[in-house]
Amino acid sequence: MNIAGASPKTLVLNADFQPLSWAPLSVWTWQEAFVAVIKERVIQVKAYDDIRVHSATRSFEVPAVVALKQYHKRKSVGFTRFNVFLRDEFTCQYCGGRFSAKELTFDHVIPRSKGGSSAWTNIVACCSADNLRKGCLTPKQAGMTLLRKPFAPTPFQLDEAARRLPSVNDNLHQTWMDYLYWDAELDVG
Ligand SMILES: [Zn+2]
Repeated sequence: MNIAGASPKTLVLNADFQPLSWAPLSVWTWQEAFVAVIKERVIQVKAYDDIRVHSATRSFEVPAVVALKQYHKRKSVGFTRFNVFLRDEFTCQYCGGRFSAKELTFDHVIPRSKGGSSAWTNIVACCSADNLRKGCLTPKQAGMTLLRKPFAPTPFQLDEAARRLPSVNDNLHQTWMDYLYWDAELDVG
């Protein structure tokens, strides 16, 4: 079966109808989602209005949003470059400036040369200028202040950070919006 020209993605929700994850956003290819719906492994929450898929004799809906039947318990967060930037919302933890991943680097709050570890609680996102300024000093020695004490985030905290990032919204299909932001809209006013 084929869809001419388009390769839509399907948003995957957990059994509580929240996205399975935000960072990265949980999406499947439409084929994966289609098969999972047919096999009744997931519930089709919404189909695309304007896309259908055709076999020789029949036409089918293409899932835009599906939900898991069983609640998937979130695992702990991997200690990765991206996740550290995400926790800190791509913001230098010294000057507060927001940067792209390319412009950001890491800072060991307590420098490695002074016994500081490479761990969630000792690594922060940092701009190049501040990284250079701080060098091998502790924040106190360098006369610099952290915006926030670094911490090991939960999956929920990373999701919250991800949904506040404007760049995350660039790749969202309009059909998904109700399932991504309805609770955020309720917070308004
Ligand atoms: Zn900075």
